[in-house]
Parts: sequence; structure tokens; C-alpha cells
Amino acid sequence: MGNKLTRSPMPFMHQLSDAIILLTKDFSIQEINSAAEKMTGWAQEELKGLPISSLLPDLNIKRNKQQAVLSGDIHDSMIVDVSIDDLGTDEAYQVCILKPVNTDVEEVNSGAIENFQEDLLVTLTNIVPDFIGIKDGYGKFVYANKFSGDIFGYPHTDFIGKTDADLAQLVPYFKPVFDYCIETDEGVWQEGKLQRCVEKIPTASGARIFDVYKIPVFDEEGVRKNLLVFGREITDQVLSHEKLQESESRYRLLAENSTDIISTHNVEGEMLYVSPACEQLLGYTPQELLSKKAFDLFHPSDIRQSLKVHEQLLKGSEISNFQFRLKSKKGEYHCVESTCRGIKDELTGEVIEIIAVTRDISERLEAEELLRKSDKLSIVGQLAASVAHEIRNPLTALKGFIQLFQSKGIVDCEKYYGIMLDELNRIEQIITELLILAKPQSKTVEKKGIKELIHYVVDLLDRQALVHNVHIVCDLEENLPLINCVENELKQVFINLVKNAIEAMPDGGIIHIDSERKGRNIEIIIQDQGCGIPPESLKKLGEPFYSTKEKGTGLGLMTSYKIIQEHFGQINIESDSGRGTAVQIILPIA
Ligand code: ADP
Ligand code: MG
Repeated sequence: MGNKLTRSPMPFMHQLSDAIILLTKDFSIQEINSAAEKMTGWAQEELKGLPISSLLPDLNIKRNKQQAVLSGDIHDSMIVDVSIDDLGTDEAYQVCILKPVNTDVEEVNSGAIENFQEDLLVTLTNIVPDFIGIKDGYGKFVYANKFSGDIFGYPHTDFIGKTDADLAQLVPYFKPVFDYCIETDEGVWQEGKLQRCVEKIPTASGARIFDVYKIPVFDEEGVRKNLLVFGREITDQVLSHEKLQESESRYRLLAENSTDIISTHNVEGEMLYVSPACEQLLGYTPQELLSKKAFDLFHPSDIRQSLKVHEQLLKGSEISNFQFRLKSKKGEYHCVESTCRGIKDELTGEVIEIIAVTRDISERLEAEELLRKSDKLSIVGQLAASVAHEIRNPLTALKGFIQLFQSKGIVDCEKYYGIMLDELNRIEQIITELLILAKPQSKTVEKKGIKELIHYVVDLLDRQALVHNVHIVCDLEENLPLINCVENELKQVFINLVKNAIEAMPDGGIIHIDSERKGRNIEIIIQDQGCGIPPESLKKLGEPFYSTKEKGTGLGLMTSYKIIQEHFGQINIESDSGRGTAVQIILPIA
């Protein structure tokens, strides 16, 4: 063997796995390697010197590459790829390489690969939670994965060779499913291309739903070869989708039938959905409002406020009972109230949509206004009754005296004049105070210093105070800012309050009047050391004609409350029965 190798013009040929025949220039066999010996079934010694045509009878020696039939010892007729080339190192020889078109060796190898791939595929198809099956052209299963067996409670390996009709007999519970498969399979064959269908498989715990792909495969002649069936379970998706739709339709039902307008908007304010209630209130159909900007329907004076609200919504706050006016199709404005909130993107947390519930409140506002009016009316009624009562008493007295004079002729009636004048004074006083309340006197609002006002009142009442042994002590902050006021009205308030303080101290005492600035307001406190007001009477203060005094009108506090209220201020009274009263007045700075 060593000698042979050294003499060989192609010494390495024995190491090559391809079948190689070394030919002389006249195409006679010089040498063959062991792969060729194996392929042809002949030994080198048996072939040496024979023409190549004895191995490859139909070989065309003019062609470099071709397929030819190898007549060997093993195969009757084996087709091989033949290539013939010059042996580059020695011109006296040519190399003929034979490659089997379908050799045993190759078959073994590819078989191994196929087996391996098949194993891999089977393993893979058995671990996926999807239904995978392959049927032949007659509907018999050639393959079914493990999952298929699990669903039908029948060993998947036993599917092989059976049709759906066979399986329907073996597992009757699933007959409707197999019947449905037979029907859809036939549809797929007839269509001749991939089809998708939904299959429902009943189980004890409810139906399982599959999204099924069916792929028909035909051979070259168009004959049915295989049907690939692939089904993915979508029960959860379908159920959650159904649930979502159900809750969505429930909410839609609410929205569509609500008398409130329910709407959603994008962040630009464009309407994405509007419930039909809009038609009743605004005269627009929901369709007409879609993609309109909500702001376009707002009253111009409400725009600024609504932009602020919009900004807050985008920041994530919820807005309740925002009142504004909406323009109807006819151009009329309606008072409405909205409660809105932003809907956030789950991922970014940013507000992406706004949902609003809007309600017509014009009727409510009217009712409220009516209530306010009727409240006023009842006060007027109350007042009228009290006025009548208060005035009738002195009038009765006066009438009595005059009747007395009349019946007795003119007599010395000096002693009655005093009483008559007192009663007339009382009527006059009541009328004056009522006029302050009732008459819309021409009011001029001016900027005034509170200090000057108080000094004026103190000067006015000082004499009266001294008669009662009362001292008024003022402690007023310097440079207090001015306030907007109707001068005479405020004077009247201070007169009423200081008078009350004097009257509360029949045995004398001190009245402290303090005033100072508190933020945007001025605070004035009138503090006395008088009888005080018992707690149960505190809530009656300000009621018309509530008085504990023999000659009181009970109108002073009521008038004062009204005036201070009109000055956008506030009166608070604190009292300690037996120790004194403090009246606090708060007025805004101009
Ligand atoms: P009038 O002074 O005519 O009685 P007002 O409306 O001024 O009417 O006061 C109503 C009532 O409130 C008084 O009758 C009195 O009982 C009580 N009142 C008001 N101010 C004081 C005060 N400083 N100290 C005690 N009681 C007061
Ligand atoms: Mg009074």
C-alpha cells in the first residue's frame, strides 16, 4: 500500500471521502480510491486498465460535468454526478469524481438530520400550549401534539391514523367539535388557502375558545396532501373583551340615558364623545359637537376661569361643580355646572383625556333666586307686622289722650303733653330708622379715614356719655389706610353701637374703641363694661324690633348689620353676661 501510494500521481486521493477514479488520457481506469471502491463495489485491481465506459456505459467523455448511470456491483442502476477534470500536476491523467445523487451514505446522514429535526419539532410542539395537528389528504391525523390530547382527554398519540369522524365516535362528548372541524376542514380544502376560524370546545368549567389557523398543502398535481391545523387558546382574551364590552355598554347605557351631558375631550378641549342629552339642552346633536372645541360654546366672560380649570385638570386635580354658561344652537346661554376629571395614561401618568358630567342648573338657580326673594318678602312681611304693632301702641296712647281732651273740653292738659311728645318722638324714631333700611338714598361711596369717622361719632356722643358717667377711650392706630364707604351710613353704625354701649352701662363705666389694620382689613372693636348679653339672646341680635329696653326700637343692630354687609364687612358680637360686650367690625381696605 505504501509503494502504491508513492507511485500514485494523486497520492492523497485515498484520504478523500468523495469517490475518485484516476483516468489516463484515453479514459482507461488507472487507479480508484477506497470511497470509489465502496461506491462501485469493485476493487481497484479488478478495474485497472478497463475503460471508464465499463463503469459508466452512457458517459459522454466530451462533457466535464454530467449525470450518468453507474453500473456497479451493488446497484443495478445508480445515478451519479460525474465531473472529469485534468489532473493539474500531471497532464497524462484525468480525475473523475463521482457523487451519488442519492447515495446510501447521504441517505443515512440526511435521515439522521431529519430524525433530529423531527425530534426537535416534536419536542417543541409538545411543550407549547397550542393545538398543533397535521392531517393527510383524507383527513386522517398524521400528527397531533400533546396539548391536542390534553384538551380532548384522549391520548394524542392515538390520534394518528384517525379522522375527526373516528374521534367523534371515540370521544362522543366532543362530537359537535369534531363535526365542526370536518365542516371547516372541507371549507379550507375548497378555498385552497389558509383560513382562520374560531372553535369553541366545551369543558366542565365553561367553553374554551381557540383561534384556529388551517393551512392546506397540495402536491404538484393539486391533490390534497396535508392539512396543518394550529389553534391558539384565546378564552381569556375573549372573556375579558366580552366583560369590557359589557361594562362599556352598561356605562354607555347610563351615559346615553342620563339627563346630564356626559362628554370626553382630548387635552386640546376637542370633544371626542358627547351623550345625547346635549340635544335637549343645547339643540346640537352629539354628531354636530364632535371634534368641536368645548371652549367655543362658553360665554366669553367664563373663558378665563375655564382655562384655569382646564390647567388644573391637566395637572390631575378633579374639579367639582364648576359653574359656567354654554351657548345653545339658537345662541342662548344656559347656566350649567360641570364635574370633570382627567384620565391618565397608564404608562406615562400624563392626562390624555378629560371626562366631564355637565348639568343644566338654570332651574336650580331660578329656584334659589325665588327662595331669596321669598326670604326677603317674609322679612318685609315680618317687618310690616312689627312696624304696625310698634306704631300702634304710641298711636293708641295719643288717640286716647285726644279723646280724653275732646270729652272733657279744653282742660289743663300740660301734664299730658310730655307723654304725648314722647310717644310722637318714638314714632318719629321708628320711622327714621326704617327709612334708613328702606329708602335707597342717594349714596356716594368715598374713600374715608376710619379715624375721622370715629372721632366724629365720639364727639357727638361724648356729652350724652358723660351724663351717664361713661368715658370713651379711643386707641386708634396711626396712618390707617382709607376705606370705601358711604360716610353717613358708617357714622350711623358707630352711633348705634356706641349708644348701645352707653345704654348697657346705666351706672357708668369705660368704653374702649380700638382700631388697627389686620391684613387687607381694618378691625374696629367697641368694648363696654355693661350688662352683657345672655347667650340665648345673642342669636336674636339683629332681628327687627328685638329690644330689651323700655324705649328701645330694636332696629339699631339690624340697620348696622345691613350697612356693614353692604360695605363688604362683617360684625361679630361677643358678650359676657354681667361683664360687658365687645362688638368687632371688620371692613376691607379700599
Ligand atoms: P335697641 O338699642 O333699640 O334696643 P338694638 O338693635 O340697638 O336696639 O339692640 C337690640 C338689643 O341688643 C338691645 O335691646 C340689647 O338688649 C342688646 N344689646 C345691643 N348692644 C348691647 C350691648 N353693648 N350690651 C348689652 N346689650 C346690648
Ligand atoms: Mg340700640
